[in-house]
Amino acid sequence: MDQETWDVIVVGGGHAGTEAAAAAARMGARTLLLTHKPETVGEMSCNPAIGGLAKGHLVREIDALDGIMGRAIDRGGIQFRILNQSKGPAVRGPRAQADRKLYRQAVQALLAETENLTIQAGGVEHLVLSDDNQCQGVKTADGRILRAGAVVLTTGTFLNGLIHLGEDQWPAGRIDEAPALKLSDSLAQIGVALGRLKTGTPARLDGRTIDWASMDMQHGDTPPRPFSFMTEAITTPQVPCGITWTTPETHAIIRANLSRSPMYSGQIQSIGPRYCPSIEDKIVRFEGRDRHQIFLEPEGLDDPTVYPNGISTSLPRDVQDALIHSIPGLEQVTIIRPGYAIEYDFVDPRELKPSLEVRKSQRLFLAGQINGTTGYEEAGAQGLLAGINAALRASGSERTFVPDRADGYMGVMIDDLVTLGTQEPYRMFTSRAEYRLLLRADNADLRLTPAGLEIGCIGRARAEAFAEKSALLDRARAEMTSLSATPKQVAEQGISINQDGVRRNALDLFAYQEVSWHVLQSLWPGALTDLRPDIAEQLEIEGRYAGYLERQLADVTAFRRDETLVIPDDLDFAAIGSLSAE
Ligand code: FAD
Repeated sequence: MDQETWDVIVVGGGHAGTEAAAAAARMGARTLLLTHKPETVGEMSCNPAIGGLAKGHLVREIDALDGIMGRAIDRGGIQFRILNQSKGPAVRGPRAQADRKLYRQAVQALLAETENLTIQAGGVEHLVLSDDNQCQGVKTADGRILRAGAVVLTTGTFLNGLIHLGEDQWPAGRIDEAPALKLSDSLAQIGVALGRLKTGTPARLDGRTIDWASMDMQHGDTPPRPFSFMTEAITTPQVPCGITWTTPETHAIIRANLSRSPMYSGQIQSIGPRYCPSIEDKIVRFEGRDRHQIFLEPEGLDDPTVYPNGISTSLPRDVQDALIHSIPGLEQVTIIRPGYAIEYDFVDPRELKPSLEVRKSQRLFLAGQINGTTGYEEAGAQGLLAGINAALRASGSERTFVPDRADGYMGVMIDDLVTLGTQEPYRMFTSRAEYRLLLRADNADLRLTPAGLEIGCIGRARAEAFAEKSALLDRARAEMTSLSATPKQVAEQGISINQDGVRRNALDLFAYQEVSWHVLQSLWPGALTDLRPDIAEQLEIEGRYAGYLERQLADVTAFRRDETLVIPDDLDFAAIGSLSAE
């Protein structure tokens, strides 16, 4: 039997696995990424898009810690949009549709240029455990035993995966890929609680047979805004997507066939993503709605496949056929592949420490869909944190890297998962973050890159770019606070301002909605002219929200004080009269 020893082994080349492997390698750990098929590394199992509300924040945070998702989508994105553009900067969500192939190629290229990282094909069937359940490595289907200082499992939907398509069901990890059938046994041996969840995907359509002329088209932003703090401009061609709607006929077809849907026939028992429901679920839950929107998203520049976003389903093929053809613009469409649902095992995330190490098995880390989450971004963020912590563990360090709820959406997600667990696939929302005025997509680097530099997961190029940006920001901030004007001078620019005699500096003036860079430049001709756009944007947000941000920072201080309060294990709660019985 072959024996190989690594610092960190990452199992799975999906969104969690690629970030985990890249992060561990950036930390200096000799890292092996083991996955069923290396050619599928970076594959998007479902929708060809990255980001969105709150998810876009996670991507910017991954990027701020030098992860790969942001740079990959910048290379593979074919339609970039900032969602919620009309709302405040805290809830704006960057999103991009991807050319599926370009995205996968970008992930693979970024991994190929990562030092300390080796990728091998291999299906992991068992964990190598010591008598006290410490994880020492993995055993592959072909009998290899690979040892490591730490192991990260990122098996996605593959653990005991079972696909449902109408009345048919068969074991699979996703379409045309085999499941991981034995690994759950090792997890059960450790004694972690396992559960089952479900997700689904829509049919894929041939775009050459869609009547595009009959529908509204949606274009991306011009110019497209990159995700990564390291990308200067998007150079991939940009394409629109189509918008259509279900019809009363579609709904009637679905209602008439609900008993053949595995979700309603009792064939699927587990819970799916509440905020990404199947079309049959939408028809039942929102009975009063007579139509549901569908975005027809191209899967690639040189690929005719179209992803109909909004009609994921596991209804039988003949029903899918009828319902799709009842949708305007899709009357003549050719269906390339039907939609399906998949059930898979997950680990109750309360089995994990905040570092994503399994409480009952030292040196074993879990990240991604295996922890009960859904979505590429949630998986990527966990992967990155697990990779950093696995590398620390393998190096013998006692440190862990755990952002808290005030550091980032990553911190919110980890805290939610390990303290509350989840009964349904967990996805990120802006409403989950208490301090969202601080946790904006625009300032992810300012929030997290310094911590990344300190822990050692940031490469040289980003470290230099960040140092330059910080210096520019400091200089511009100093200039703005040094420029001050009287209320009379400000009023002369057409701004209604209290004539209280108090001088205000250029940053303070952004608290007045009518004040723009143009107004400031008129007040101080020759000053504040050559600011880099990202620096100008950052200072404008800081100035506009200064009062609110100050209050939120005070809340954060109080939160962190409470978080560090240690309640002794032997505290007698019954002796505290003011606590209710509940
Ligand atoms: P994955 O991307 O699934 O990657 C897992 C990787 O691990 C694969 O490379 C696999 O080959 C490898 N692997 C697994 N087991 C082993 C093993 N034992 N040995 C070696 N390698 C192994 N997300 C949404 O947000 N909304 C949706 O509507 C949605 N629908 C989905 C529908 C379907 C049908 C599927 C399959 C997924 C869907 N997703 C959806 C989920 C999205 O794909 C995942 O959240 C995301 O891919 C999770 O990333 P991951 O890295 O955890 O796992």
